[in-house]
Amino acid sequence: MVIRIGMKNYTVIETYNSDELGKVFGKPYACAGICDTVNNQIHIAVDQSDFNKASTLVHEIIEALNHNYQLKLRHRQIEVLELGVMHFLVDHGINLDEILDKI
Ligand SMILES: [Zn+2]
Repeated sequence: MVIRIGMKNYTVIETYNSDELGKVFGKPYACAGICDTVNNQIHIAVDQSDFNKASTLVHEIIEALNHNYQLKLRHRQIEVLELGVMHFLVDHGINLDEILDKI
Protein backbone atom coordinates (compact mmCIF):
# COMPACT_ATOMS: atom_id res chain seq x y z
CA MET A 1 0.00 0.00 0.00
CA VAL A 2 1.24 3.48 -0.85
CA ILE A 3 0.39 6.42 1.40
CA ARG A 4 1.13 10.09 0.93
CA ILE A 5 3.04 11.78 3.72
CA GLY A 6 3.48 15.44 2.99
CA MET A 7 4.92 15.69 -0.52
CA LYS A 8 6.24 12.11 -0.67
CA ASN A 9 4.72 8.70 -1.23
CA TYR A 10 5.72 5.90 1.10
CA THR A 11 5.14 2.19 0.56
CA VAL A 12 3.94 0.47 3.72
CA ILE A 13 5.32 -3.05 4.05
CA GLU A 14 4.61 -5.86 6.52
CA THR A 15 7.27 -8.50 5.94
CA TYR A 16 9.46 -9.04 8.97
CA ASN A 17 8.86 -9.84 12.61
CA SER A 18 10.29 -7.35 15.09
CA ASP A 19 13.57 -9.26 15.66
CA GLU A 20 14.18 -9.58 11.91
CA LEU A 21 13.26 -5.96 11.28
CA GLY A 22 15.84 -4.76 13.78
CA LYS A 23 18.55 -6.95 12.22
CA VAL A 24 17.72 -6.00 8.61
CA PHE A 25 18.12 -2.32 9.49
CA GLY A 26 21.26 -2.86 11.57
CA LYS A 27 19.69 -2.17 14.96
CA PRO A 28 20.91 -4.01 18.06
CA TYR A 29 17.30 -4.36 19.22
CA ALA A 30 13.90 -5.50 17.97
CA CYS A 31 11.80 -2.91 16.11
CA ALA A 32 8.00 -2.59 15.87
CA GLY A 33 8.47 -0.36 12.83
CA ILE A 34 11.03 1.38 10.68
CA CYS A 35 10.71 4.52 8.60
CA ASP A 36 13.18 4.08 5.73
CA THR A 37 13.52 7.62 4.40
CA VAL A 38 16.09 6.54 1.78
CA ASN A 39 13.72 4.19 -0.03
CA ASN A 40 10.49 5.88 1.12
CA GLN A 41 9.22 2.76 2.84
CA ILE A 42 7.53 2.18 6.18
CA HIS A 43 8.00 -1.29 7.63
CA ILE A 44 5.55 -2.60 10.21
CA ALA A 45 6.56 -5.71 12.18
CA VAL A 46 4.11 -8.56 11.63
CA ASP A 47 4.32 -10.00 15.15
CA GLN A 48 2.14 -7.45 16.94
CA SER A 49 -1.55 -6.88 17.57
CA ASP A 50 -3.65 -4.91 15.08
CA PHE A 51 -3.82 -2.05 17.57
CA ASN A 52 -0.04 -1.97 17.93
CA LYS A 53 0.40 -2.13 14.14
CA ALA A 54 -1.88 0.90 13.81
CA SER A 55 0.03 2.73 16.55
CA THR A 56 3.32 1.83 14.86
CA LEU A 57 2.01 3.14 11.53
CA VAL A 58 1.06 6.45 13.18
CA HIS A 59 4.50 6.59 14.81
CA GLU A 60 6.33 5.98 11.52
CA ILE A 61 4.19 8.58 9.72
CA ILE A 62 5.31 11.12 12.34
CA GLU A 63 8.91 9.90 11.85
CA ALA A 64 8.56 10.56 8.10
CA LEU A 65 7.15 14.06 8.71
CA ASN A 66 9.94 14.72 11.21
CA HIS A 67 12.53 13.77 8.60
CA ASN A 68 10.94 15.35 5.53
CA TYR A 69 10.23 18.69 7.22
CA GLN A 70 13.35 18.68 9.40
CA LEU A 71 11.24 19.21 12.53
CA LYS A 72 14.04 18.02 14.81
CA LEU A 73 11.56 16.25 17.10
CA ARG A 74 13.12 14.09 19.77
CA HIS A 75 12.02 10.48 19.88
CA ARG A 76 10.09 11.07 23.10
CA GLN A 77 8.11 13.83 21.37
CA ILE A 78 7.29 11.45 18.50
CA GLU A 79 6.11 8.84 21.01
CA VAL A 80 3.83 11.36 22.76
CA LEU A 81 2.37 12.54 19.43
CA GLU A 82 1.73 8.89 18.54
CA LEU A 83 -0.07 8.41 21.85
CA GLY A 84 -2.18 11.52 21.40
CA VAL A 85 -3.23 10.63 17.87
CA MET A 86 -4.07 7.06 18.91
CA HIS A 87 -6.20 8.32 21.83
CA PHE A 88 -8.09 10.60 19.42
CA LEU A 89 -8.69 7.75 16.97
CA VAL A 90 -9.84 5.31 19.69
CA ASP A 91 -12.02 7.86 21.51
CA HIS A 92 -13.84 8.64 18.26
CA GLY A 93 -14.21 5.07 17.08
CA ILE A 94 -11.87 5.52 14.14
CA ASN A 95 -10.44 2.13 13.35
CA LEU A 96 -7.31 1.72 11.24
CA ASP A 97 -8.02 -1.97 10.56
CA GLU A 98 -9.27 -1.23 7.03
CA ILE A 99 -6.04 0.57 6.25
CA LEU A 100 -3.94 -2.20 7.77
CA ASP A 101 -5.84 -4.80 5.71
CA LYS A 102 -4.58 -3.10 2.53
CA ILE A 103 -0.89 -3.47 3.42
ZN1 LIG B 1 10.66 5.91 16.29
